[in-house]
Amino acid sequence: MPGFQVDPWQLRWNTLNLDALGRTESVFALSNGHIGMRGSLEEGEPANLPGTYLNGFYEQHALPYAEAGYGYPEDGQTVVNVTDGKIIRLLVQDEPLDMRYGRAVEHHRVLDFRTGTLRRDTLWESPTGRRVRVRTERLVSFTQRAVAAIHYEVEPLDGNLQLVVQSDLLANEPIESASKDPRVSAMLNTPLVAEDAFAQDCHAVLVHHTRKSGLRVAAAMDHELDTDDGLRCDIHAEGDLARLTAAVDVPEGSRLRVTKYIAYGWSARRSAPALRAQVDAALSGARQTGWEGLLAEQRAYLDDFWATSDVEIEGDPELQQAVRFALFHILQAGARGELRAIPAKGLTGPGYDGHSFWDSETFVLPVLTYTVPEAARDALRWRHSTLDKARERADALGLRGAAFPWRTIDGAECSAYWPAGTAAFHVSADVADATVRYLAATEDVDFERDHGTEILVETARLWCSLGHHDLHGGFRIDGVTGPDEYSAVVDNNVYTNLMAQRNLREAVAVCERQPLAAERLGVTVAETTAWREAAAKMVVPYDEMLGVHPQSERFTEHARWDFDSTPADHYPLLLHYPYFDLYRKQVVKQADLVMAMYTRGDHFTHEQKVRNVDYYEALTVRDSSLSACVQAVMAAEVGYLDLAYDYFAEAALTDLHDLHENVRNGLHIASLAGAWTVAVAGFGGMRDHDRSLAFSPRLPGALTRLAFRLTYRESRFAVEIGQDSASYELLEGPSLTVGHHGEGVPLVLGAVERRPIPALSSRKAPSQPHGRAPRKRAVPPPRN
Ligand code: BGC
Repeated sequence: MPGFQVDPWQLRWNTLNLDALGRTESVFALSNGHIGMRGSLEEGEPANLPGTYLNGFYEQHALPYAEAGYGYPEDGQTVVNVTDGKIIRLLVQDEPLDMRYGRAVEHHRVLDFRTGTLRRDTLWESPTGRRVRVRTERLVSFTQRAVAAIHYEVEPLDGNLQLVVQSDLLANEPIESASKDPRVSAMLNTPLVAEDAFAQDCHAVLVHHTRKSGLRVAAAMDHELDTDDGLRCDIHAEGDLARLTAAVDVPEGSRLRVTKYIAYGWSARRSAPALRAQVDAALSGARQTGWEGLLAEQRAYLDDFWATSDVEIEGDPELQQAVRFALFHILQAGARGELRAIPAKGLTGPGYDGHSFWDSETFVLPVLTYTVPEAARDALRWRHSTLDKARERADALGLRGAAFPWRTIDGAECSAYWPAGTAAFHVSADVADATVRYLAATEDVDFERDHGTEILVETARLWCSLGHHDLHGGFRIDGVTGPDEYSAVVDNNVYTNLMAQRNLREAVAVCERQPLAAERLGVTVAETTAWREAAAKMVVPYDEMLGVHPQSERFTEHARWDFDSTPADHYPLLLHYPYFDLYRKQVVKQADLVMAMYTRGDHFTHEQKVRNVDYYEALTVRDSSLSACVQAVMAAEVGYLDLAYDYFAEAALTDLHDLHENVRNGLHIASLAGAWTVAVAGFGGMRDHDRSLAFSPRLPGALTRLAFRLTYRESRFAVEIGQDSASYELLEGPSLTVGHHGEGVPLVLGAVERRPIPALSSRKAPSQPHGRAPRKRAVPPPRN
């Protein structure tokens, strides 16, 4: 299948490959974290999944259980494909432009990381031989959160043509579903009930509501039409459709230009008239700014982003493109979420029902914390706003404090499979950890006082009630599921225990820094003493005989999975083998103990890290896209740089190469974030334990240069890494000190600090389960 043209600043697709529609709709999706529009073609058909999503807009449905049980969540939530405003149909002398018919003489689509737009240039010949050129450009505005816009231009190429343009708002679009893969969404048919429709001049609004979740959405459009003369326009709106129709004779050499402004608003409380007013106001703002103005704002927003957050890679142009693509989508997922979650697929597709998982705090927020800290803060404020639900959930489970959900849209637990849902308590420590990281990186005392303290206190309470002191003096956390979903309901999962330990210690520390907030939360001395005690006595199993950490108690005693007899097409294992068998064997879906060595690297010695990496490499099958990046970071730390590089490519190209063959359901946002993580924490060796920032840079042989920029407290600085040395430069803000391979490097304005990279003693890299080695990365020649 032809791929994307390699280019450092854009993603370009030069062919019409209808079989790849679903894939391109996801990678070309535009979003600002509030509105998401898949990259479907303007004419609406052919389409694979023509989604438009609003962050937090979902329908509720009963979760089906063959056998009910106490404490099972009753309701599920599924993201809704809302009213589609992207559609602009074209009739050329009464023949509909449809890429399945006639001939696409030329067809290019470009996602531009600097302009923040998706462009299309199509030269289409109708079945009867009439040729038109259609150029479109669209954006979902980073600056005007409720607004999207499309600039649409048609040019007749063979004499005068009568063109009819139909610009739609369409609700309840038919979508194809039905799959047994649990990662696919439970897609809903006709989820929206029409409530109000209005049309006048070039402007129309549709208001709908959901049946059960009680949410209401208004979608509005307005148009500017620019043509020489003879335009006939008509507009109507009713039920699920609003349509502007414009008919015009366009002479050769002339063009018809349409600018479509689209606005969305939704609410659980506001009335239909209030929502109409809201979207009308957003449209007025957009029209006032105008198409050129929206483009300029978008560009300026992204110029700022790249100036503070770019990652440059020399030696592998495709990975350069992939990493910028990743950063662009991370920004799109988080930029304007504002008190909403960051779903596992962002707003690029309906996969996983639009739910957010630990992916957000563990993978995405570290990137945002060091690049767009306000976005990290807003995502954490969303978690904070769900604390009541997390407290209710803890209470229902007979626990104290807050149990954050494994998967959710509005904060309520939506996982119907408790062994990998309810039992995955580590999500609460992950939220706490992201809070600690954000606080250390920003020193945002307001957030600490008003939100951070409560998150840390309530999660610490959870651990104290979930764990217990045994008769041997240890603090145990039994019956939980760690990150590896091929083990479940285990005792003393090392990752969970170490993350809980940090959570408990940080809760003590934040209460000391914020005594008034702690008092408001009813924290007593007895309570903080108990947290200290639990942290100090936390059980961390270790297998003395093998000299490795079992990822949970007795794990290393289990039978090993028979990798040699597992056919290649039986991966992912979860779709081919029963969980009961996966759970009782040594087979690892995704980095778990290896994850612990990254996030709690301060707990392990270097020798332990090496032995553990070797041990778990041989067991890890990477059936989750969250694994490769973590394995890369640890491989780099222990000195397997080429292996780390192969994993880097896997994480960064997961979506562009559709490595899991499910990109049509949406992008793997955590894996995209992982591409940044490998660059910065893998080859840059960044660690942020104990409120400090340290680097241990080292490049794989294939790369000649890696550079990245970070925001830390009031400062911005750049790190540039070559094969033999690394340099650090403060770009803005107060002086600070960072670590370089264990040495402190003071950064002051105007001085570039260069340090040598210590030599590495080489060691043979471990191997992976049969057939599961990462693809060896060979830099492909540029393709044009
Ligand atoms: C992984 C989880 C992850 C979820 C959503 C699953 O396959 O095992 O760790 O949170 O996908 O990305």
